[in-house]
Amino acid sequence: MKALVFHKPNVVSIEERPIPAVGQGEALLKVHACGICGTDIHILHGEHIVKFPVIPGHEFSGEIVEIGQGVTNVKPGDRVTVDPNITDKTCWFCRRGEMHLCENLTAVGVNYDGGFAEYCRVPAEQAYPLPDSVSLDDAALAEPLACCIHGMDRAGVTSGSSVVLLGAGSIGLMLLQLAKSAGAAPVIVSEPDERKRTLAAGFGADIVLDPTMDDVAERVIAETHVGADIVVESAGRPETAALALKLARRGGTVLQFGVVGPDSTIAISPYDVFYRELTLCGSFVNPFSHARAIDLLAREKVKVAQLVTHRFPLVSAAEALQTAQGRDAVKILITPNE
Ligand SMILES: [Zn+2]
Repeated sequence: MKALVFHKPNVVSIEERPIPAVGQGEALLKVHACGICGTDIHILHGEHIVKFPVIPGHEFSGEIVEIGQGVTNVKPGDRVTVDPNITDKTCWFCRRGEMHLCENLTAVGVNYDGGFAEYCRVPAEQAYPLPDSVSLDDAALAEPLACCIHGMDRAGVTSGSSVVLLGAGSIGLMLLQLAKSAGAAPVIVSEPDERKRTLAAGFGADIVLDPTMDDVAERVIAETHVGADIVVESAGRPETAALALKLARRGGTVLQFGVVGPDSTIAISPYDVFYRELTLCGSFVNPFSHARAIDLLAREKVKVAQLVTHRFPLVSAAEALQTAQGRDAVKILITPNE
């Protein structure tokens, strides 16, 4: 099979690899589509710990072509999406139901070969069969959508919540749809890129701001009078993380969803957190939200097809990675078998 291999930071190639043999409890997928995530770019630049060489790709869908002994939840021919995050099920956190915080968390496409290949072997229990109404293209976005669902749970978005989203990339645009369907109002989006602002307006954002032109803090106060109930940092930048703290109302919640570089810091006034009774929270991966993501895609409560701006065959993976680092793309899919 053909596969995209990361050998070490910034050294990649397309290679012929043997199709993986399935063992007990495993399933082999013929990969349909695999999304490029910001994490893949961090791995490419050596900013995320992985076991090189690795075939990256953790947002993918495909068809089961082979199963190992003892597999009962999927069978050859099933269309599936994969939850890439694998827990040990026995550590302190797993034993208390916080499995996404597992001390030994590993992931397909990070610690094991992933979806940027014609075939991928996964633990069968990580595969979720799809209803007919979910396309394999859409299913490739089930994993990031599942992460967004967890973020909405963490932030406590509910009917009538005022929500500010700082950043409207593919993640911000999914968070926007989830906030709208939860009944949040107003939902205010701030995004410097025009194409993404247009998408945000199309997905029903009540107010769309351009932070290069608009005074975001002033506009949020104008719309909410007191600041927002919930502010979500979905740009992955220290500047927006600092701004998020200013935009929350007294008693409000700030959700750090974007992945800011591990060495970045911002200044926080502890007095401000105390006096304004702020809640600061993070959101990490997708605990028990992958099935909910599939349900939302099946019922068209969240639309992801419009987020896909580029598709590349595997042989053009280098160009795809380049495009992912530019400003043009919202979501890029690599389709290894096209
Ligand atoms: Zn664990």
